[in-house]
Amino acid sequence: MQQFQLSTELCFGEDALECLERFRGQRMLLVTDPFFAENGTAQRVCVLCRGESRIFAKVRPDPPLELVAEGAAHMEEFDPEVLIALGGGSAIDCAKGMLSIARSRPFFVAIPTTSGTGSEVTSFAVLTHQGVKLPLIDPDLRPNLAILDDSLLQKLPKQLIADAGMDVIAHCVEALVAKNRSLFTQGLAVKAYHTVMELLPRSYEGDSSVRGQIHCAATIAGIAFDQAGLGACHALSHAIGGKFHLAHGKLNAVLLPHVIQLNSSCCSYSPLGNNPVFAVTRLRRRVQLPDSLTAAGLNRGELLSSADELCSAALADPCNEGNPYPMTKDAYHRLLNACL
Ligand SMILES: [Zn+2]
Repeated sequence: MQQFQLSTELCFGEDALECLERFRGQRMLLVTDPFFAENGTAQRVCVLCRGESRIFAKVRPDPPLELVAEGAAHMEEFDPEVLIALGGGSAIDCAKGMLSIARSRPFFVAIPTTSGTGSEVTSFAVLTHQGVKLPLIDPDLRPNLAILDDSLLQKLPKQLIADAGMDVIAHCVEALVAKNRSLFTQGLAVKAYHTVMELLPRSYEGDSSVRGQIHCAATIAGIAFDQAGLGACHALSHAIGGKFHLAHGKLNAVLLPHVIQLNSSCCSYSPLGNNPVFAVTRLRRRVQLPDSLTAAGLNRGELLSSADELCSAALADPCNEGNPYPMTKDAYHRLLNACL
């Protein structure tokens, strides 16, 4: 038996934030990073809720467990009816971490401001502890409501558009062939892949009119991989990113073509077109992402001296289980060497 669950309500498009008015008068805790507290977006969300609200604005990239514990203590003390995460994957994952250790379970709303992780619809969160990425997987972490508002996407930095977009591509490609794939997840993965392939260069070059569609595609890819699983690209990307703190999407951009080649011996990527390796490398060039780990700024010697640790971490990562080609530590060593 296979299952496909639909659990997060989606509000999307222009003025989607107005759906927050349904929480009028409720006690609300907003989790975000300092940028959105300073530019007024956090206050805009609080005003729409019109109730007692507090802002926890300490989120930073790769949220560490200590920060999550601090946020959870804040949540216990305030006891909100609604928990809202506003920001990129780090803010949403930090809020998920808080939920996983708090005693209460407020209504959970995710408002993504980047179009990449899909965390607004998934049961996954990635936290960090002493240089190691800790994936949390629990269906209870899926937000009750995700708000995809076009107005939050107008001023995205170019680098973030490229990194996040390539993360979506990696989610689609890995979900398409992952162990728990089904017709439902494949349909979603293929649609999201072609949407981002077509529109990402335009968004990267400054056309903000396509960003709403890419934002939806990122969420669609999230629904797909949440249920299908991911694979070796994400397993090794988590291992390298935990140790060397390089943007997740940038790492995926380097690793993904090699993982497609590796898996092609045991599965078909034909719904993505004739030559997905060529398509992914061409997109990578158009959005000016690196084609190797050293081109991404990592040190070859440091990577080689950490190779054993990285490959062990990749093998132990939950995403590894989804990969169609049966990965071994040697296979990860070959993959890492090919990406140097
Ligand atoms: Zn990812």
